[in-house]
Amino acid sequence: MSRLQPARGTADLLPDSMAKHRLVIEAARAASACYGFQEMATPIFEFSEVFSRPLGESSDIVTKENYSFADRGGEMLTLRPENTAGVVRAMISGGLTQSLPLKYFYAGPMFRYERPQKGRMRQFHQVGIEYLGPDDALADAEIIACGARFLAALGALDDCELHLNSLGDAQSRSAYRAALITYLESFVDQLSDDSKTRLAVNPLRILDSKDTGDRQILQNAPQLQDYLNDASKAHFADLTAALDAAGVSWVFDPLLVRGLDYYCHTAFEFVTTSLGAQGTVLGGGRYDGLAEMLGGPPVAGVGWAAGVERLAMLVETAKANSPKVAIITADDGARLAAFQLAEQLRDSGIEIDLPTSGAIGKKLKKAGKAGICVAVIIGSHELANNTVQLRNLEDGSQQEQPLDLADSNGLAAAIAKSLLAP
Ligand code: ATP
Ligand code: MG
Repeated sequence: MSRLQPARGTADLLPDSMAKHRLVIEAARAASACYGFQEMATPIFEFSEVFSRPLGESSDIVTKENYSFADRGGEMLTLRPENTAGVVRAMISGGLTQSLPLKYFYAGPMFRYERPQKGRMRQFHQVGIEYLGPDDALADAEIIACGARFLAALGALDDCELHLNSLGDAQSRSAYRAALITYLESFVDQLSDDSKTRLAVNPLRILDSKDTGDRQILQNAPQLQDYLNDASKAHFADLTAALDAAGVSWVFDPLLVRGLDYYCHTAFEFVTTSLGAQGTVLGGGRYDGLAEMLGGPPVAGVGWAAGVERLAMLVETAKANSPKVAIITADDGARLAAFQLAEQLRDSGIEIDLPTSGAIGKKLKKAGKAGICVAVIIGSHELANNTVQLRNLEDGSQQEQPLDLADSNGLAAAIAKSLLAP
């Protein structure tokens, strides 16, 4: 395999893909701002414990998918596979547990050593929000409504189904865990190898198994909702009442558990029908135990993350931004003046392309193809007369304008006007 390819599971974001990517991120940023989430960023790598402790030594992310390495000083570091642990670590290390509640938005690359396929990469990007502090079910409802608003802005909500489940509090979960182990132990020979291992370390995760044999066995397994205590039931009822009040539709999904150890109560995913197997575009839940697991004080939290690449596949088209105005020199005598004029027009806020080589005819043709609307043509002749030609590349019309390199405001205004002309 050629070393000049991007590494397996990674991709370049060339301008048109970048435009789609940005559209997704901007939509998430706007939706989260609408709810008071503020943007922040944590480092791309952390001490490995930040992930291994809360994500669970047995989780897929830690056992199979991590990018971990010892740096030159011998510190064990891990490229972040997700951002919730990093955000909660930042809250604890920044002493921010004094200023709860906190509402954060983030966007950036994540890294997981997975088998690459459509919608599943080794470096991918997520946008997400974390709401730290409240244990009220209205906080869960608010972040889910925010996720729905984000997907709606992308035109993706109508093709998505919101799957919702309650994992209950610690007491409910451990009662259920015991019942599930008893049930699954009678099928242990038929379980997939992965699930055999999970049975010993985290049986709840078997509910999430994609193996068809496992799924068959699970059909008659005890149901989590039958083990929820009153407090857990009340939390879920409160959440669904709020979602119903806000007109956010949802379906109950008793097998939805989410991959990670620290979730409690709410687990949810928005799943689209239009992306095949990799249909989960946004997922999240409540993680009240996470801060303590990281060694901080107990702080409740709820949040979600969405896959930017998967959502970008749903965005029909987005064009990379490019200048609408070019300065085209007719001959080398106008090179420096053109450069100076370009800077002045940029000072006036006009985006300018300044092609540096080629004959004037070729440059004009190329500019037209690149979406330039107005060409400012300047040559030695124009320079001597203190004029330029403004050519409209859409209809070929041309007009002469005065050139004053001491004050280009007049010319800037003329260009702005011809850009507005139909
Ligand atoms: P999946 O079940 O698809 O593996 P997950 O449960 O591992 O998803 P999360 O950890 O909840 O995913 O991440 C949130 C979102 O990030 C996912 O819903 C998905 O859109 C996106 N995502 C996760 N892993 C990848 C990946 N390897 N490549 C691209 N996007 C991803
Ligand atoms: Mg995964």
